[in-house]
Amino acid sequence: MQSQQIVDAVHAKVAPLIGCGRVADYIPGLAGVDPRHFGLALATKDGAVYGAGDWQTPFSIQSVSKVFALALVLSHDSDAIWRRVGREPSGSPFNSLHQLEHDLGIPRNPFVNAGALVVVDQLLTLTGDPCLAVLDLLRAEAGNPAIGVDEQVAKSEAEHRHRNAALAHLVASYSNLTNPVDAVLDQYTAQCAIAMSCGDLARAAGLLARHGLRSNGSRFLSRSDAKRLNATMLTCGTYDGSGEFAYRVGLPAKSGVGGGILAVVPNRCTLAVWSPGLDECGNSYAGQAALDTFTTLTGWSVF
Ligand code: GLU
Repeated sequence: MQSQQIVDAVHAKVAPLIGCGRVADYIPGLAGVDPRHFGLALATKDGAVYGAGDWQTPFSIQSVSKVFALALVLSHDSDAIWRRVGREPSGSPFNSLHQLEHDLGIPRNPFVNAGALVVVDQLLTLTGDPCLAVLDLLRAEAGNPAIGVDEQVAKSEAEHRHRNAALAHLVASYSNLTNPVDAVLDQYTAQCAIAMSCGDLARAAGLLARHGLRSNGSRFLSRSDAKRLNATMLTCGTYDGSGEFAYRVGLPAKSGVGGGILAVVPNRCTLAVWSPGLDECGNSYAGQAALDTFTTLTGWSVF
């Protein structure tokens, strides 16, 4: 089966599920998105892109941005961040204060919000402008200089960031933030509000399918760090549904409450799917079904 036939077949199979689930409404800027959107893109490791549905429509990538922030931190220093953040699945909601207090300010993994705040803190120290560093990486790898922050979503999220502020202050109370809390929160919020299409997202993540090599062939991550990042996505990337997702799909992936999911088939391709209706864990309902259908149809999983 050719790649275009694959994405078309997946789209057709999940069509009855599009619109199922609930759009995230705890960020008012996301609440108005039409749940009937569905986009799917497959980028081969050589950069060819195939898409179905709304694959060229920009959407709010939210927590999918956490993959690129972590990749940037690892590209500077593979070890330092792991002294401040764990690598275990959370088994709790992604914004749990209770777990963070129990773990004495060391977030369970880099993809829960507290962990991502620590990653942003580290990237702030390293670059001075984490959101711009993430944007530069995304723009270069996707080949699209127009990728940017959705200012309306960023403003809405900033106005409703009480819980993230509580997490950041709790981390800081355990001396696990090195920059001012508000500076870290501003950067984190902007990063989450990056908007881009499935096609651009799949292409931008190609370095994870190429064992750490950028689109121009230069090395961005060591082979080991690319492996570790993919492994962390597999175990922790889809919230408190990571076990079920691994069972159904069998691929490293990271989801966001905007309804996006990025998945990696190492040494072969990357997939980005977007459908805003979420399940109770916060993962895209039709998006998960699409990736499940994809690996079942092609046999391309890591297992
Ligand atoms: N910006 C969202 C938050 O901080 C990201 C959540 C997500 O996509 O997991 O709550």
